[in-house]
Amino acid sequence: MKKSIKIVLIISLFTMMIIPFKAEATTLKEYEDQVTKYTKELEEKQSKLAKNESEVKEIKQNIAALEKQIQQAEQDIIRLEEEIEQSNEEIKQKSAESESLIEYYQLAEGENAYLEYAFGAETITDMIYRASIVEQLTEYNDQIMKELEELIKVNEEKQDQLAIKKEELAKLIEEQESEQERIEYESDQLREAMPTIQQQIDTYKQQVEYWKNKGCKSNDVLGVTCAVPPKVSDDVDVSNIMGANGFRLPMNKGYLTQDYKGLRHLGVDFGSTNKSEPIYPVASGQVIYVGQDSAGANMVKIVHNVNGKLIFSTYGHMRAVYFRKGQIVSTDDMLGLMGSTGNSTGPHLHLEMTTCDWTYNCTYKVYKNSTISPWTYLPKVTRW
Ligand SMILES: [Zn+2]
Repeated sequence: MKKSIKIVLIISLFTMMIIPFKAEATTLKEYEDQVTKYTKELEEKQSKLAKNESEVKEIKQNIAALEKQIQQAEQDIIRLEEEIEQSNEEIKQKSAESESLIEYYQLAEGENAYLEYAFGAETITDMIYRASIVEQLTEYNDQIMKELEELIKVNEEKQDQLAIKKEELAKLIEEQESEQERIEYESDQLREAMPTIQQQIDTYKQQVEYWKNKGCKSNDVLGVTCAVPPKVSDDVDVSNIMGANGFRLPMNKGYLTQDYKGLRHLGVDFGSTNKSEPIYPVASGQVIYVGQDSAGANMVKIVHNVNGKLIFSTYGHMRAVYFRKGQIVSTDDMLGLMGSTGNSTGPHLHLEMTTCDWTYNCTYKVYKNSTISPWTYLPKVTRW
């Protein structure tokens, strides 16, 4: 990309970001719709959150149940191990029994003296009988051993199956846990978004309330078909207070009482014989702030776009303000009435002009150092 194109692109992006003239809601209904929209959004998030919470509860129960099954499987494995050991023990015993029986039997086939000694047999018939018993007993032992071996095999198979089941259960737990984590993350996101939505609701509710109090109905265009701000009367000649650059003095009649002195007096003070002299914006622009300073002085701030450069004007001590933040104003819109609110000894207008504003794009410290003499733009008339 060419350097010059790059610069142009950066400048236009920057301009788009700082130029504040964005479209505001024009009818009361639009503000009401915003309240409805954000309220609905908040309710949706709340119900999703509730759903998530019950899902997490269910998952936790599932995990607990799975853990119980794993415990059961572990116990079963141990029990089978014990059974296998016991079977092995029995096999050993039976094998030893058989061996000793066979030993006696073998001895019985030898000498009679041993026979007598071994079996206590008194006759040969008795001896034969006893030998057949031995044979039956060893066969019986063999049978039992076979059965025990079979049982061990079955138990070992059961153990293998239980080990597999245990692994599957552990995998299920893992799945449930990652699902729980996902839901909890989502819930966190929902919770984080809620205060912002609530703020939007409150802001729009305030707007609705403000305009309703001014007598506006749903389909009224705010400031146009209702709560129309007073305009400058046609019979007043403002040609002497209106500069060619589009700036004007902030009142139709008045005089300078205090000049701009940089950091020692950040603006100029104007007085008028009419204690409630109407105040007008020094140029067309957008209201960016309506409020009070710490001493209770009413304060209105307007941003002006002077050939792409932002200039800010601040109006202090007014007794009435007719405009709201966000509204577009022109030089014949009556902003409010001169007054003596806040730290003031009598009705006057304190006017400050700056190249940035602490309510908009800079800190108060920077703001104080960015004041300019209002005479840079205003027609220099000290009494009119
Ligand atoms: Zn002042």
